[in-house]
Amino acid sequence: MLVDRFGRIARKLRISVTDRCNFRCTYCMPEEGLNWLGRDQLLAYEEIYRLARLFVSQGIHTIRLTGGEPLLRRDLPVLVEQLMGLEGLRQLAVTTNGTRLPELGPELIAAGLTSFNVSLDSLDPQRFEKAVRRKALAKVMAGLDVLASYEQVKVKLNVVVMRGFNEDEALSFAKLARERAWSVRFIEFMPLGSEDEWGHSRVVPGAELLKQIQQVYPLVQVETAGASPAARWRFADDTSAQQKAELGFINSVSEPFCHSCDRIRLTSDGQLRTCLFSLTETDLRGALRSGASDEQLLHLMQVAIQAKEAGHLINQPQFERPLRTMSSIGG
Ligand code: SAM
Ligand code: SF4
Repeated sequence: MLVDRFGRIARKLRISVTDRCNFRCTYCMPEEGLNWLGRDQLLAYEEIYRLARLFVSQGIHTIRLTGGEPLLRRDLPVLVEQLMGLEGLRQLAVTTNGTRLPELGPELIAAGLTSFNVSLDSLDPQRFEKAVRRKALAKVMAGLDVLASYEQVKVKLNVVVMRGFNEDEALSFAKLARERAWSVRFIEFMPLGSEDEWGHSRVVPGAELLKQIQQVYPLVQVETAGASPAARWRFADDTSAQQKAELGFINSVSEPFCHSCDRIRLTSDGQLRTCLFSLTETDLRGALRSGASDEQLLHLMQVAIQAKEAGHLINQPQFERPLRTMSSIGG
């Protein structure tokens, strides 16, 4: 197993399959984009598969594909199909901005993917355009409709909440969760973009949103087994059999959950990161490409996890931003 010096066990791996994106979310990327990686710098699918197999052999049970925009990576369904075959993997999921779901959703679902997180920061077209610097709300909504037409698919919406921008939409998102039986997760704004104008004053604590929503809709907390970064709530009046409508609050800044963190990350250029805010990485791609054996790769993974940081320092004066943005880490 991959256990760190504080006894935390890594169970979830996020794999970034590309650093490129067709959006330019203000909190994530500058308007002109970033210096994209060359094709040979990206891990090939065989390399991703080999590392994923080793991670799963060490107790990782959940893999999330992300980026950049993962649906921009060519032949993503091929990778999905390969990873779905990994013995020991319990869940494969994707986080996407949703724009390519109308074309690719059915193929991904046919390949076995059933868990989709779709980012959606505003339900107002102009505001949405301001957030992502693209006119694309209709496309994302069309993508969500495609997902909703599959009974077996689980949809979660990721909403990054920023003070003075969209905190007034919490109720509209709660209403949407109820109407469409989706899970909506409110994520606190984190200092991870290159020009994101982040400041504590722009973080809306999840507790504040929860209170706002509870004044209108009575909620009941969902008991979770294992580590979950989201405090989850369902609607008290939801009498449906599956109770899929849910609200989650990922309060990474106001209520850090680092003490129970079970995540690690693999960047699209093959660097292992033990925290979103890590200042160091482990070069698995270099090792792979210089002919490392499985045992040598496992050793590198173990050493990296051992050194996992106790927690992020966002609320401490000595906090240093990581050199990479969220898009290049794989959020
Ligand atoms: N492009 C895909 C998307 O947007 O869903 C996947 C990659 S994106 C980096 C993953 C998630 O990180 C998204 O839900 C996005 O909203 C979130 N994110 C990006 N920058 C963030 C920030 N500074 N603070 C909080 N969440 C952020
Ligand atoms: Fe692209 Fe996702 Fe970053 Fe937005 S948050 S710019 S969609 S990678």
